[in-house]
Amino acid sequence: MSRSIALPSWPEGADAAVSLTFDVDAECGWLGESPEYADRLTTLSEARFGITRGLPRILALLAEHGLKGTFYVPGDTAERHPDAVREIAAAGHEIGHHGHLHLRSDRIDHRAQREEIERGLAALATCVDARPSGYRSASWEITPFTFALLAEHGFAYDSSCMGDDRPYLEEHEGVALLELPVHWSLDDWPHFAWNIDSGGRLGDPEAVWRIWNAELASAIAERRHVTYTMHPEVIGRAHRFELLRRLVEAIAASERLWCATHGEVAELVRSGAARR
Ligand code: ZN
Repeated sequence: MSRSIALPSWPEGADAAVSLTFDVDAECGWLGESPEYADRLTTLSEARFGITRGLPRILALLAEHGLKGTFYVPGDTAERHPDAVREIAAAGHEIGHHGHLHLRSDRIDHRAQREEIERGLAALATCVDARPSGYRSASWEITPFTFALLAEHGFAYDSSCMGDDRPYLEEHEGVALLELPVHWSLDDWPHFAWNIDSGGRLGDPEAVWRIWNAELASAIAERRHVTYTMHPEVIGRAHRFELLRRLVEAIAASERLWCATHGEVAELVRSGAARR
């Protein structure tokens, strides 16, 4: 169930809020699909490109414009690439929970769903100080059991569902959680990701800019919040990176936009709701 909530006034006199989010899937994005990927060095190397080249490009661009993003990091990525994850946190960005082995909760039993949450938390704790307050499920699939685990572990918000295009309450079996919704059209993966087994799309960044810019204009007109989702190995390729550069420059140049992490948006929305 979706329950609408009144949105607060955005800080700094802004008309709308925007969040840049990055899912740092790295190798476990594939290893979580199937153990057979353990021997597929080319596929794993493409995933690793996100750490080697994509992430530094993203961090440099955000620093250049003084913007903060939310990086959803699986526990496995924190274990394989602790220095990269520490660098994200040290730059002041938010680290969110993104499972441990990037296993889809709809494909695993309750015990494994609990392990994904708890091992992910433990792995993140080894390289960042702050406990994540937000969660995003692998491949945006979430079951009622995992949803209940989020409440049990005290997460302040989820960012996996698509029941509205602005913050709302996602409710299941008596549990209500603040949802910062996503959508496939505002995710780089469906526009650009391609692999040898199932193909995909090697899309034109110019076409995606038109989609993403139209959404930004709509968010301003409706005074709402919008989330963009990217993957360092996807958006980090040079020709696609110009799309992110354009988006960041548009956000930084606009006085009508408040660019904030998911944690900041969640805190504002929750405190606004508490006042009413
Ligand atoms: Zn992911």
